[in-house]
Amino acid sequence: MRFLVCIKQVVDASKMEVDPATGRLKRNNANSIMNPLDLHALEAAFELRDQVGGTVSVITMGPPQAEAVLRQAASMGADELYLVTDRAFGGADTLATSYTLVHAIQTLKPFDVILCGQESIDSNTAQVGPEMAGMLGIPNVSHAIGNLSINGNVITVKRQMNDGAEVVEMKTPCLITTGKELNKPRYPSIKGLLAKDTAEIHRITSADIEADPARLGIKGSPTQVRKVRPVKPMKKENLKISGKTAEESAAILAEALHKIQVI
Ligand SMILES: Cc1cc2nc3c(=O)[nH]c(=O)nc-3n(C[C@H](O)[C@H](O)[C@H](O)COP(=O)(O)OP(=O)(O)OC[C@H]3O[C@@H](n4cnc5c(N)ncnc54)[C@H](O)[C@@H]3O)c2cc1C
Repeated sequence: MRFLVCIKQVVDASKMEVDPATGRLKRNNANSIMNPLDLHALEAAFELRDQVGGTVSVITMGPPQAEAVLRQAASMGADELYLVTDRAFGGADTLATSYTLVHAIQTLKPFDVILCGQESIDSNTAQVGPEMAGMLGIPNVSHAIGNLSINGNVITVKRQMNDGAEVVEMKTPCLITTGKELNKPRYPSIKGLLAKDTAEIHRITSADIEADPARLGIKGSPTQVRKVRPVKPMKKENLKISGKTAEESAAILAEALHKIQVI
């Protein structure tokens, strides 16, 4: 079977800095790591490969330095590495990121299971996995936390819900986003560490994908950061909302939120 893991290079939460002029995160190799939840997605793919055989490919969209997370995945046992990189992809929001990743994936041999982390630690939207599943037209289970197994073309997995957890079955091809409860990521092997620097990285640029250029990068991103400001520690205050109608209560709540600058 063919497994694909989407991994993102993120800024280490303890070293995060925002450029006040552009509102963007300052990124460099010294402060970047693999998104921690993507390690759990990788481990899940390795465990599925251990169960039924096959290959684990990894893909990341990012600047050339994102190669570092692909090499880390290779040291842990990934078979194929794909770097989706081009100036045209820069400044992408989640929609443009998902669109680009999906079009890059469609240039490759089809995958049976695609795995993503539940969310990234630097943007935390948890949108990319489900968006990709929607664009690919395949089923998706979000926030997998256990019981992962595969039998023929049926995947079983336990997912976290708001009010409990449930075990679900889903047919391949499908997409799963993983929580940290799912497994314990493995350490790189000595063989993997020796091979990672020479592992081949396949580059995918805008010339390789059949995508609408207007839907890529900053041009294709309906959400853009207008302003970034430090969040002031909030004072706790009780507010009793006692409008006569739902509309009146909503208006009181909206005004209160405006006052404390939440919206
Ligand atoms: C309003 C807004 C504005 C933004 N503006 C900018 C900006 O101006 N410049 C900028 O650089 N960034 C910007 N970002 C961040 C950028 O949109 C996100 O990095 C990107 O879209 C992925 O979203 P996420 O990190 O929330 O992913 P999530 O949906 O939280 O990530 C879930 C999983 O999806 C997969 N995934 C996510 N991104 C990638 C990727 N690139 N490659 C492979 N797999 C991936 C991983 O498995 C990850 O664990 C912005 C984000 C938002 C919400």
